[in-house]
Amino acid sequence: TFMRMKEDAMKNGQTKPGYNLQIGTENQFLIDFRLFPNPTDTLTLIPFFHSFQHRYNRLPAVGVADSGYGSEENYRFMQENGIEAFVKYNFFHKEQRPRYTPNPFHAESLHYNTEEDYYVCPMGQRMNRIGTRRDKTASGYITESARYKAQNCEGCPLRGSCFKAQGNRIIEVNHRLNQYKRQAREILLSEEGIKHRGRRCIEPEAVFGQMKYNMAYRRFRHKGEDKVTMDFAFFAIAFNIKKMCAKLLKAGKGGTARIICILIRTIMTQYTRNIAAYYQISEKRVA
Ligand code: SF4
Repeated sequence: TFMRMKEDAMKNGQTKPGYNLQIGTENQFLIDFRLFPNPTDTLTLIPFFHSFQHRYNRLPAVGVADSGYGSEENYRFMQENGIEAFVKYNFFHKEQRPRYTPNPFHAESLHYNTEEDYYVCPMGQRMNRIGTRRDKTASGYITESARYKAQNCEGCPLRGSCFKAQGNRIIEVNHRLNQYKRQAREILLSEEGIKHRGRRCIEPEAVFGQMKYNMAYRRFRHKGEDKVTMDFAFFAIAFNIKKMCAKLLKAGKGGTARIICILIRTIMTQYTRNIAAYYQISEKRVA
């Protein structure tokens, strides 16, 4: 989610996004967070896992995220690090619609011969491999797409529906990404996948809802990454204490919740006294 800067040039509440805040939750407790300057979620997943590893000395066993995180690089990282990935890809939701019919001209709908590495176009023409295209993502990851070309599209009755470019049709297919997508589809549609997908809206989204709308924490009160990290760390501690007390009260353990509140108040009072004493010492030294 985006945390916003104070500036409101249009005077209509549309403030500029300042940080891309990523959080990890479990049972609606904040278990990790990290702030990113980049707006795209895709590039934040791997650094977020590293942050988690740094904090807990291990990687999570399961990763649940929405389609904004479903890239080849992310799927690969999770597979290589033994993280069970319940991560959607773009079009996952569209594919699940009851009336969804795949476009028969789309590269993914064409028949692929795995052994001899060629595609068959809608007119039954063989599309042979003509090379590989390599692209570099913003994080430096290299993706590879195999290129296949039809032999002769001239005069084809399906030409108008098939493609718009000139010459014979060329398709580019990222086989590795397609394989990850197939695995993701299978796992997301499994019993466990349905359970995790159902929980996603009551996990991070519910936490963001409580944070931004119930508690009106939409902007940081400080500037600079260090101070903003401290800002949110305090919020996360308070949020988790509040959540724990609410859960204890709900479980009929009001006595325990009250004891915890008293303990926290005592610690906080002691802590603020220490701060006051420290300031007094500093002021005396300055004087
Ligand atoms: S236009 Fe070319 S690729 Fe498309 S169906 Fe016709 S022959 Fe096949």
